[in-house]
Amino acid sequence: MTVSSFSRRLFLDRTIKGIVGLGLIPAWSGRAGQKAATQGTGYVYDPVFLDHILSETHPESPERLLWINQKLEETGVFADCVQLDQGVAPEEYILEIHTQRHHGLIQDKPTTGPVAVEAVSAVLGAIQAAAGGTIRNAFCAIRPPGHHSHSDDGGENGFCFYSNIAIAARYAQIACQFEKILIIDWDYHHGNGTEAAFYSDPSVLFFSTQIPSAWPGTGYASRTGEGDGEGFNINAEMLSGATNDDFAKVYDDILIPAAESFQPDLVLISSGFDSKRNDYLGYFDLTCEGYSCLTRKAMDIADTYCEGRLVSLLEGGYSDGRDSVGSFYGLANTANAHIATLLSNELQPECDYYSRTKRIPVSSRDNPDIFVRNRKLYIQSNISAIEKIRIMRADGMTVQTMREESLARIPVDLGKLKLAQGRYFIAAVMKNNKELIIPFTL
Ligand SMILES: [Zn+2]
Repeated sequence: MTVSSFSRRLFLDRTIKGIVGLGLIPAWSGRAGQKAATQGTGYVYDPVFLDHILSETHPESPERLLWINQKLEETGVFADCVQLDQGVAPEEYILEIHTQRHHGLIQDKPTTGPVAVEAVSAVLGAIQAAAGGTIRNAFCAIRPPGHHSHSDDGGENGFCFYSNIAIAARYAQIACQFEKILIIDWDYHHGNGTEAAFYSDPSVLFFSTQIPSAWPGTGYASRTGEGDGEGFNINAEMLSGATNDDFAKVYDDILIPAAESFQPDLVLISSGFDSKRNDYLGYFDLTCEGYSCLTRKAMDIADTYCEGRLVSLLEGGYSDGRDSVGSFYGLANTANAHIATLLSNELQPECDYYSRTKRIPVSSRDNPDIFVRNRKLYIQSNISAIEKIRIMRADGMTVQTMREESLARIPVDLGKLKLAQGRYFIAAVMKNNKELIIPFTL
């Protein structure tokens, strides 16, 4: 027995015990442990994806792909992947999801239109390779992303032009005869376009984690599908600062039992890395290890029901730090952890996110100088090192900013801030450009 298969079995055992222990299902399906039919991880990338530019300083920058590629080359992951370069003519499948009007208006956009079609084509090629058994799973390093695109916008929606993953799901059904598709969306933002595409469709189970009050303002758990699709749309609401453990629990408690009753034929992932710690546009705290763990949970579903077939599509994931577009080190590291897990089954170790970044969020337990106790904010020393303190709601909105003058009155009674009950975060912005994130509850 290899180390890989040993640790994988242990992981599956733990997962089974977790679900059974919660009483969510009576027993694991007899199909558990089914071996993947094929091996190998495909990688989809084309330099044409760099040609699409929204603006020079836009966070959805071509640099994102270059950083990911460079990291994969450094770690050897790139060399271990199967490079997939066979696309599929996508027009008829695009029109399964989008109107002719939308398609025409996107194609009228110079550069962006053709690049967006190339991205869809490349994704369909990866689906075809997984369906044909050439590979077991694949990652598609594509731009532009897709999960906010609606059927008839005729334009950009949240940096998206075509609903790549929805088109991929339809292609898998029509051209590859897969009946049931599971789409997992772990991007920080809700996959509103994907939800809309399949809201009344019981053949696609959509599972998405987000803060519903964050952009685009959708993703409430009460939205469960309609008509025949009732129960096939699952929104898991998260809080700002959600950790690896918070995500693992939602996957164990909600996604895995849902997959057990759905029994998908193919798993697709809307793989946004803006749920990573310190993302420019996200406020979750997933790390490399967290992304790796969620990847393994998705792979376990694919191994159990789909002979390992899983295709992951890049969505969001931006530079590190809140204030400016800069290093994409965290994006590259989390993408590497995800793809290395697809390759090896192995849980990837934690990585150093911040060696080239400006701001360093740390929890209060790492920082004895600033902490909250009994609804009071204490700053033990070195107040002059603090530039400002922001109080943020769980959805990431700043509700109060305190500068040096108000910090002179220590401790600060957080109970007097006229805030509603709930979970909040303090962001202590230090003059050395570190940022300390401290959660508290009122
Ligand atoms: Zn996003």
